[in-house]
Order: sequence, then structure tokens, then C-alpha cells
Amino acid sequence: MTDSTQIDDTVEDEASSFWVLDGGMATELVRIGYESIANEPLWSSKLLQSDPDQAIKTVHRNFLEAGSDIIETNTYQANVNHLCKCLDVTGEEAVTLLKKGVSFALEARDEFWEANKLEDKVAGRRKPLVAGSVGPYGACLMDGSEYTGCYIDNVTEEYLIDWHRPHLQALVEAGVDIIALETIPAIAEGIALIKLLKEFPDTKVWLSFSCKDNGMTCRGECVSTIIEPVQASDQIIAIGCNCTAPDHVGDVLRKLQKLRGRKSLVVYANSGEEWTKEKKWSGKEDCKPLHDYIPEWVELGASWIGGCCRVFPDDIRRIRETLYKVHR
Ligand SMILES: [Zn+2]
Repeated sequence: MTDSTQIDDTVEDEASSFWVLDGGMATELVRIGYESIANEPLWSSKLLQSDPDQAIKTVHRNFLEAGSDIIETNTYQANVNHLCKCLDVTGEEAVTLLKKGVSFALEARDEFWEANKLEDKVAGRRKPLVAGSVGPYGACLMDGSEYTGCYIDNVTEEYLIDWHRPHLQALVEAGVDIIALETIPAIAEGIALIKLLKEFPDTKVWLSFSCKDNGMTCRGECVSTIIEPVQASDQIIAIGCNCTAPDHVGDVLRKLQKLRGRKSLVVYANSGEEWTKEKKWSGKEDCKPLHDYIPEWVELGASWIGGCCRVFPDDIRRIRETLYKVHR
């Protein structure tokens, strides 16, 4: 947590508080030629085990070049229990793989910064941060339930805390700057994660839900019902939504805007395309580009903005340009 002071200062200083996130890790991996990950139970995390061409670092670099102030580790589905099951490795080996995911991001960030910090193209930019990605329990069930939250009635809070603990611990030990608790479909899992956070008191996080329309989580609860435990935790820097269709983001922000207090609002929508039963993305022609939504989201208070599935480095570049046009 080397940069927590930097993060704290940002919360204090609203005028300089825009942070550009990255886009979809798996999306960019597929674009550069790794289509096979779409059929992997570990999805892009499969490449933690074998990545001879350093594809993960290439993706990080592409987003950094496009203007990301924060890149996320390739560890969304790399829960220790899930890695053990899918790769037939021990817990210790799984933790090593997870930490490798953090190293890729830290190296990519440091190499990018060393190579460019004196160049005009990064003038005015801060040294980017590395966020450790933690996906929901449902992401490891591989049945799409991370987008319904339907598993939440079948697991106890204690079970969820135990499930997530080694993942968080490995990311913290490996030296991420902040943790992204993301695509969380149900309030109860958010609460479990907030309780788990107390075991890592020096760790700062953002908490991001996957949402549907009317400001509802994918599980169907108003996202604002998480506000009390969020406000009670000084470890949570930002609250918001990701992997949510851009047309629904405004409603989420409206629910959180007046209740957020000193928390920042984080938004990284998907492209608005749909993943069909035929395992294909469809509807691109009906989607407005993400940067067209930026003025509305900024007006509603969002300041940590990036993209999720089907959001590429070029989209991040346009988001950054638009964000700074709106702001200045
Ligand atoms: Zn996504």
C-alpha cells in the first residue's frame, strides 16, 4: 500500500480527483490473439500459469499507453480455492500464481513509468496505481451467477469471508496499491467483504456492484442499501458499479450521489453489448460509445471512470480525452 497517502489526498482534493481506469483484460487479450481464454473455466486467469509471450504485461502496457491512471491485476477469477480446483495445484502454489499476477502489473507499471515519465505524452499524469482485482464468489461457479447473485441465499456470510480471505491476503502481501472488489451482484456479499477488510486495516479498496436498471444490483436490491456499512469503513475510497450496461449507470449514480459523503464514485461500464447463448457478443451497432456518457456521469459525481467487458484501449483513450475536456 505504498500509495495510500496519494489516494487519501485525492479524496480530499476534489479538483484533481479524476482517475482513469483501464478496460477489459480478457477483451484486450482476445483482441491481441488469445481467443482461447473464452473457453477456460479460469478465463484470463488461466494465463497466470503459462504466459510465454507475456500477454498479460502487453495488455497492461496497452492500457497504460492509452492513459489509464489505474490498471487492474489479472486476478478477477484467481480465487485461491478456484485456482486449486481448476489447475490441480496446492494452496501455496495458487498463492504464488496470484502474486505473479500482481508482479506482472507492477512490472508493467514501473517499466512504463521509467520509460515515459520525462516524455510529453505523460505530462500532467500521476504515476499509475495497481489495483488488485477480486471478483465475486459467483464468478467461480461458472454458471453466470455473478450476473444474478442467485447463489447468495445458499451461502453464509462466514463462508463468503473464508472464501475471499486468501485472495485478498495474497494481493495485499504482493504489494498492490488498492484493491478492486468488483462485479459484486448482491449487497450481502458486499457486507461480507467489508467485514473481511477489517483483517487488513491498512488496505484501501473500492467496492463496485454489477447492476441492472433503476439502480438495482443484479440481485435486485437498491444499491444505496450498502451505504451505511460503506460510510462506516474508512478503508473504502470509492463506491459504484462496473460491468453494467452504460444506459443503467446514470440510475446507479443518482441512487448514490447524495448519500456518498466523502466517498468517490467509481464507474466502469461494459460496452452495452450482450453475451448471447451462442457465446458471442452482439448488439455493437446499437451501442453508443462510452465517452458519450462521460458528461452525464461527471455531472452525477463520478470521478473514477474506466471500462469493463468489451472496452478496449482506444475507448479508454477517448474516455480520458473527454473527461479532461469536460473538466477543464
Ligand atoms: Zn465486465
